[in-house]
Amino acid sequence: MATTAKHIALGLDIGGTRLKAIALDAANHTILHELETDSHAAEGPEKVREAMRAAVSEFKRFGYAPSLVGIGCAGSVDPRSGVVRTSPNFGGWKDIPLKEWSESDFQVPSFVDNDANCAVVAEWKLGQGRGLKNLVLLTLGTGVGGGLVLDDRLYRGRTGTAGELGHLSIYANGERCPCGSRGCLERYCSGSAIRRLAGDVSSKEVFAHPDVPRHAKVISAFIADFSTALTSIVNTFDPDAVLLGGQVSQGVAAYLPEIRKAVSEQAFPAVASGLRIELAKFANLSGSLGAALIALEEGSVNRFKSS
Ligand SMILES: [Zn+2]
Repeated sequence: MATTAKHIALGLDIGGTRLKAIALDAANHTILHELETDSHAAEGPEKVREAMRAAVSEFKRFGYAPSLVGIGCAGSVDPRSGVVRTSPNFGGWKDIPLKEWSESDFQVPSFVDNDANCAVVAEWKLGQGRGLKNLVLLTLGTGVGGGLVLDDRLYRGRTGTAGELGHLSIYANGERCPCGSRGCLERYCSGSAIRRLAGDVSSKEVFAHPDVPRHAKVISAFIADFSTALTSIVNTFDPDAVLLGGQVSQGVAAYLPEIRKAVSEQAFPAVASGLRIELAKFANLSGSLGAALIALEEGSVNRFKSS
């Protein structure tokens, strides 16, 4: 069959507030088009379905009809069934069949995974983690996500929920978390936590004006809490690198030397030696890019065409 049409994988990244999407050329992994809109996640899953439909329609208008769709979503995702079981920061999400919705709406094979799993795959295949066998990605956004590549493969665990590092508890009697636990990292080191601790000031503002006394206090608590969590994480997984993504990581960049120093003082010397703690390459696109890469890996265009 002769065709000149590009095979395109669409990657959709559903966050608490934003829906990010890219069209990826399957042949050479070039990003052909990208867009970002409100995810409407707080208004319920049907609104997200509408936002996904609108995004895919726009790609089609630009001539990028997908052969495959990959979807990254925050929360506990079953990658086999493509069902989002729960998502602590999305109101009312319970057993949402995203894969089924996508395949019914877009008529192409679709794959769903946790958004941070997608993000770590993007960094591992095309970003700062290229060539590494053991990689931890932390996404510092509205919440804190975690993704793990261990022994050269994406590690999902028994139920697909592994790597929820934002829900590593750092204070046994700390803030209650929607996940059911207390004192989770996410309650202290996410964008929404920084906003709360700074008295309704955005993390961007806090990091842009570190001389304001209240901001300085919030930043110093952030460094201490984040370094404590990182120490546990690196002692557990012994990675080659920890990469930091998400919009809050941009503000954290200036404090990486302090964070590296604290971790190297607290972690096992063998673990700390040679450990890289760096910003991720794809600050904003890693979720959508990784979702597209996972879709390419899991579902071949040819298999669909012959089915
Ligand atoms: Zn939690």
